[in-house]
Amino acid sequence: MIIDDVTYDLIIVGTGAGGGTLARKLAATGKKILVLERGGFLAKESSELVDLEVFSKEGYHAPERWYDKAGESFHPQTSYSVGGNTKIYSGVLQRMRERDFERVTHQLGTSPEWPLKYADFAPYYTEAEILYNVHGRKGDDPTEPPHDREFPSPALTHESSIEEIADRFSKQGLHPAYLPIGLGSQGRTDSEDTGITPAVDLGNVTLKTGAKVIALRTNPTGTAVKGVEAEINGQTCLFMGDLIVVACGAVNSAALLLRSANDRHPHGLANSSEGVGRNLMKQLMTVIVQVNNASNSGTFQRTLYLNDFYWGDDTFPYPMGHIESAGGLLQDVIFSESPPLLSIASKLMPKFGLRQLATHSLAWWLQTEDLPNPDNRVRVGETKLSIDYEPNNIEAHDRLLYRFQELLKNLDPGSSGPFRGLHPYGAAPLAVVAHQCGTCRFGEDPKTSVLDLNCRTHDIDNLYVVDSSFFPSSSATSPALTVIANALRVGDHLIDRWG
Ligand SMILES: Cc1cc2nc3c(=O)[nH]c(=O)nc-3n(C[C@H](O)[C@H](O)[C@H](O)COP(=O)(O)OP(=O)(O)OC[C@H]3O[C@@H](n4cnc5c(N)ncnc54)[C@H](O)[C@@H]3O)c2cc1C
Repeated sequence: MIIDDVTYDLIIVGTGAGGGTLARKLAATGKKILVLERGGFLAKESSELVDLEVFSKEGYHAPERWYDKAGESFHPQTSYSVGGNTKIYSGVLQRMRERDFERVTHQLGTSPEWPLKYADFAPYYTEAEILYNVHGRKGDDPTEPPHDREFPSPALTHESSIEEIADRFSKQGLHPAYLPIGLGSQGRTDSEDTGITPAVDLGNVTLKTGAKVIALRTNPTGTAVKGVEAEINGQTCLFMGDLIVVACGAVNSAALLLRSANDRHPHGLANSSEGVGRNLMKQLMTVIVQVNNASNSGTFQRTLYLNDFYWGDDTFPYPMGHIESAGGLLQDVIFSESPPLLSIASKLMPKFGLRQLATHSLAWWLQTEDLPNPDNRVRVGETKLSIDYEPNNIEAHDRLLYRFQELLKNLDPGSSGPFRGLHPYGAAPLAVVAHQCGTCRFGEDPKTSVLDLNCRTHDIDNLYVVDSSFFPSSSATSPALTVIANALRVGDHLIDRWG
């Protein structure tokens, strides 16, 4: 084993929305920070996907297989790279709603209250929106929480067919709104360009890529993590740090803590509550394709969302979820995962090729909150990583789908043409772990939570988890802005801790 002779003030494992943002926030302290990332650098275009490459899946998967409850293996759609999943995300950076932080009654269960509220996150949401240069417009969506200032940049304009649909939604008394999108001079803002690169430029932050962390080593009494063990170029290396932040994403952070079990922590580090890996959530997601006569470029940004059913409606008084335009079909990675929607359409339209269909189609994402269930969990073997996951809250999601299908039937632009009424849809399979969260929930009670309110583990004073693991509930809002805002919040705590 190679033992690094430096002792760092802080070691961060992972460079995604959580780890990358935290590195940026703390770099200015001048502390000696080591960042370990298992992946390498991706070409810039990877977050600005274009063209039919979107349908060639493998580039957007982790180079490993995970296992489902039945023992079947699958390729998870997750990016191991500098910037993590923000390198392949869609750049939608949206705040959770005020009520999402409260206890919410769903048709078949309850979404738990967060120990901190919207007001606690609001200043960090603002800081996050400035850092990631979010484009948006306040005031169109009644579910929108209070903002103390305008978005840093104006909303992106809709593509013409989306604009037409927005007008028609408005005429029906709905509230189409502009999706908040993080965008910089080189495309979508991500945790490499916005987080890691400026942090490393300051000189006190060292980034090691291709460094897969395999275990955290504690002192003999198990009260502190002393060493971080990583595989680099086939060799095992040990790094020492005073504070350790795990930011590998909800699935991999839980797996790392579980795999670091020792005599003092036989069920895994920070796992006295037995909560590590449990309550994994990933939201219920369905994509609907709206085939129509008008052509489009197939490569435009997502810009529109509809939250009119977010908290339910007159006939279903329970949360249903969020709907957003998916942008151009040639630009959306998650399409590669959905059941072959376009192939369904192409059977109906044999003369059309994939490109023609994609440029004659609009697509929509539907997201519904899934509820925390301790049996939905990450489990690890020596080398194997298993995801036990049974979706729940399914009826709420189905109802959202029916509501939206009804809307689309009345809306198809060019509705008299041959494509009228074609709305193939498909639910995202297990491999779509894009919105993974939970697994190390934060809370005040060490018996029922893994992390305290500062995302420090209850069990080990110098160990933190700063990524989407801390979520007690998933909400139906895309998670990245909350992960980023939380990293900034924990950053303030660490600055205070250092004095
Ligand atoms: C295709 C796609 C589209 C998405 N679109 C959106 C969107 O529009 N809006 C939104 O809000 N969210 C979106 N998401 C989700 C969003 O990207 C995540 O919520 C966010 O990136 C989570 O941040 P994180 O820090 O928890 O983890 P990640 O961003 O996944 O970062 C984890 C990092 O840890 C590294 N790592 C893992 N294990 C180890 C290890 N053992 N050793 C060293 N390094 C390790 C990984 O390589 C990665 O860099 C999308 C996700 C995907 C996949």
